[in-house]
Amino acid sequence: TTFANLGLAEWAVQTCKELGMHKPTPVQTHCIPKILAGRDVLGLAQTGSGKTAAFALPILHRLAEDPFGIFGLVVTPTRELAYQLAEQFRALGSCLHLRCTVVVGGMDMLNQAKTLMTRPHLVIATPGRIKVLLEDNPDIPPLFSNTRFLVLDEADRVLDVGFEEELRVVFKCLPKNRQTLLFSATMTSELEALLELSANKAYFYEA
Ligand code: AMP
Repeated sequence: TTFANLGLAEWAVQTCKELGMHKPTPVQTHCIPKILAGRDVLGLAQTGSGKTAAFALPILHRLAEDPFGIFGLVVTPTRELAYQLAEQFRALGSCLHLRCTVVVGGMDMLNQAKTLMTRPHLVIATPGRIKVLLEDNPDIPPLFSNTRFLVLDEADRVLDVGFEEELRVVFKCLPKNRQTLLFSATMTSELEALLELSANKAYFYEA
């Protein structure tokens, strides 16, 4: 199949080509149409499978149609992963005037709060830092009241290190009708429990 067959906009198909992505990987072939159809997704896929583009492309496709507020929040376990994700989003969204910000520990929190107040399209965060930002400043949670997508990248690792409390705070600030996209290397009981909370008909993909 091709990226165009998956339902992605022409600009996205072109960008993939320019990035040397000529054919979708299996996780992309299966997950992109479901995400475009509005489903929640749990994807079991390893790093290197192309899982990042599997969620980034459909999010960017929807964002390009109607960019508003903080459109998507991506939570990932480490700072390094957060920066890598931002890089991929920027590359895939290079023709969109995308505003994408990284919110991780070790950086100035006041600056992060100020950047969030400018309503970037995408926020890529580690669980600890986004929790503190949401709890410490009453102006921050309302910024997420129309967020369309929540992604938990490396979700098994996020849950494994005991970030349940952080995730609870995040979930509380996001609208119920958002789409939730969970990507993980392994299936865990915590993931299963999270999927139960899904407001949309969830699609399960296993490589
Ligand atoms: P990930 O599994 O998201 O960590 O992606 C691993 C690498 O594969 C990244 O550097 C992507 O740029 C690359 N990649 C993702 N999708 C494709 C594709 N369809 N064709 C070729 N390379 C890809």
